[in-house]
Amino acid sequence: MADRVTAGDRDVLLVVDLQNDFCPGGALAVPRGDEVVPVINRVAATFHHVVLTQDWHPRGHLSFASTHAGKKPYETIEAFYGPQELWPDHCVQGTPGAQFRDDLQVPHAELVLRKGYHRDVDSYSAFYENDRTTHTGLAGYLRERGFTRVFLAGLAFDFCVRYSAEDAKRAGFDVIVVDDACRGIDIRGSIAATDQLLARLGIQRVTAGSIDSGA
Ligand SMILES: [Zn+2]
Repeated sequence: MADRVTAGDRDVLLVVDLQNDFCPGGALAVPRGDEVVPVINRVAATFHHVVLTQDWHPRGHLSFASTHAGKKPYETIEAFYGPQELWPDHCVQGTPGAQFRDDLQVPHAELVLRKGYHRDVDSYSAFYENDRTTHTGLAGYLRERGFTRVFLAGLAFDFCVRYSAEDAKRAGFDVIVVDDACRGIDIRGSIAATDQLLARLGIQRVTAGSIDSGA
């Protein structure tokens, strides 16, 4: 039987990008992405502290294939910081696609962290933008709040969850991924690569049902 973990006062649940565009019917749908919403609603209720991230791009963002003449979604370009996947236009600031899912019920979330708002840099991670040096400010916020352990859930497992997990670890937090509260998009083997990376970093993975609420 899997070990149980208790969500205490120094733990925070980071819910990654539970937005319309990342769910079926959206511009950049993660297959079965909507299935995690009820799971996350249940898990979030066991945490005192929840942070939501929101992908939040200006029009003409670097990560949009439409920004680059002759390029198609899921191709790669060379950005100033290295390779960058191209995506359909998604999560444009102020549009319905950028809004959180209506069925996401986490009223006690304490912070909404927006990311990806610099036109020329994408930000998969909730901690660093894709240049790997520009901070979003989240690590400082979590430290000032006294959190030491970050639980991760959301979309997509193999991009924004993956990089957020890696960077949370790099920033010195203990990290746990809630497996059944994530779904992946799987571009060129990215789910398998994420599984390997999490294992190499020693990042624990649990199911939503194994998390108990601390008093
Ligand atoms: Zn994006």
